[in-house]
Amino acid sequence: MQKNGKLILIGAGPGDPELVTYKAVRKLAEADVILYDALVHPDLLNHAGDDVEKIFVGKRARQHLTRQEMINRLIVDRIGEGQCVVRLKGGDPFIFGRGYEEIALVRDSGTEIEVVPGLSSSTSLTALQQIPLTLRDLNESFWVVTAITRDGTLSGDLRFAAQSTATMVVLMGLRRLDEIAQLVCQYRSPETPVAVIENGSLPDERVVLGTLTDIAQKTIEEALQPPALVVIGEVVRFHPHFEVS
Ligand code: SAH
Repeated sequence: MQKNGKLILIGAGPGDPELVTYKAVRKLAEADVILYDALVHPDLLNHAGDDVEKIFVGKRARQHLTRQEMINRLIVDRIGEGQCVVRLKGGDPFIFGRGYEEIALVRDSGTEIEVVPGLSSSTSLTALQQIPLTLRDLNESFWVVTAITRDGTLSGDLRFAAQSTATMVVLMGLRRLDEIAQLVCQYRSPETPVAVIENGSLPDERVVLGTLTDIAQKTIEEALQPPALVVIGEVVRFHPHFEVS
């Protein structure tokens, strides 16, 4: 009799292949097939058996389907064949990762589903930089905000976050940093410190520190590229290399 298919959604952490959970490592060994994204470190695939099929789904692979359609089809087909499908996604799969959409695909069919949380870039890259996301008397929350919405406009939540005491952690914001900084300046001091972390937790990591006034220009001068995390708030002042100018 054919065994039942299973979907295991695993968070691959922010980049450094050691920044994954013990459970992620154990579950990778259960896979028949692994579908992995661009931000997943290739070393993580070594936790799977040699004969396991490993499919990179990070770029558009076929013309007639969108990338997400192709991934969805792979998940459904392989589960239908009774395989254990591991879907390996950067950071935490439920934070701007479309993790829910992918489990929802097979939930109704009664497929067994497991989720292994991952360290999100939003909370782990800041810790690696020794930037506290919260600090008593300085802020009462932190917001993890996407810079852009589905239709390409700046997220309206940036404006709300800017009006609070929150540390703002902005994902996918590098290309729009100038606009974001200007928007936040409407509510916070132009001297508010900002950190931009490129390729966080990886050997080629770079960090640019500045203020709302000069950060966009600095990241252009340094030619920073995505993936990058933008951290806005007084807590950035506690980065070991932040200098008061
Ligand atoms: N689910 C992921 C986020 C996916 S959205 C998580 O929890 O981390 C992708 C965005 O995350 C990137 O555009 C960037 O803003 C951020 N990001 C992810 N990994 C990163 C890394 N190693 N360095 C810098 N930013 C990263």
